[in-house]
Amino acid sequence: LNVYGAPVIGEHERWLGIVIVFQDITELKRLEQIRKDFVANVSHELRTPVTSIKGFSETLLDGAYKDTDTLLSFLDIVHTESNRLEMLINDLLDLSNVEQSGFEVNAQPTDMKAVIKRAIEMIQPKINEKSIQLQLEIQPVIVLGDPNRLIQVMMNLLINAVTYSSNYTEITIRLFTKEDQAVIQVADQGIGIESSEISRLFERFYRVDRARSRNSGGTGLGLSIVKHLIEAHHGQVEVDSTVGVGTTFTICLPIAS
Ligand code: ADP
Repeated sequence: LNVYGAPVIGEHERWLGIVIVFQDITELKRLEQIRKDFVANVSHELRTPVTSIKGFSETLLDGAYKDTDTLLSFLDIVHTESNRLEMLINDLLDLSNVEQSGFEVNAQPTDMKAVIKRAIEMIQPKINEKSIQLQLEIQPVIVLGDPNRLIQVMMNLLINAVTYSSNYTEITIRLFTKEDQAVIQVADQGIGIESSEISRLFERFYRVDRARSRNSGGTGLGLSIVKHLIEAHHGQVEVDSTVGVGTTFTICLPIAS
């Protein structure tokens, strides 16, 4: 709490009273803490791959390159970690863009079925890798949205559904209308999320299982980007999950009239 005081003086230097201002800075402090945590998180996330790239390349330069097997396996690590760095930088730039106060999407009548098809095409190799069965329950719906941004949203949700599911499980994608909204659902039969974690899922860098997420290549920024993008479309995103049973992400978007 900040407290300021000042006397109120009237004519002939007469004391009329005193003004006291109490300023509640709880919210300011909270925002300041969020900003500090974010910078600390970014630094940590960037440092991890850089340390690895430096370490392995130095070892190679010190002579390890002479052994072909070592050379190949270290180069592979350097390559993977550079990819990770690139992904992180792209996500950070994207997040900073969508978080700008004036950010607007280029909304136009968009065939949501085509958006879903495109996102599936991009993720298909990952789906095949885990022998995941894809179920489509899709009605034709034209939404008001930015096709590229919506593909990005669908890709994020699909990658998560695949990442947090075991081999040979099912992922169902639904598209239908409810009242004057389009509803899109991505439902998996994966590990699920504790209800206590759900409220924090959309925070930047929040991960339920840090190690698992990093190993699967996640940056921890995907869902924050999704939330910002959907809100920029005047839509909503919700999660429903049961541990050990699966997770359903539901997005509502305005229909193009
Ligand atoms: P990440 O890159 O770590 O996947 P996200 O922002 O996309 O970051 O997701 C945040 C966290 O939410 C993930 O680390 C994971 O713990 C959890 N999560 C997201 N989607 C799912 C899902 N379909 N099933 C289980 N957990 C999920």
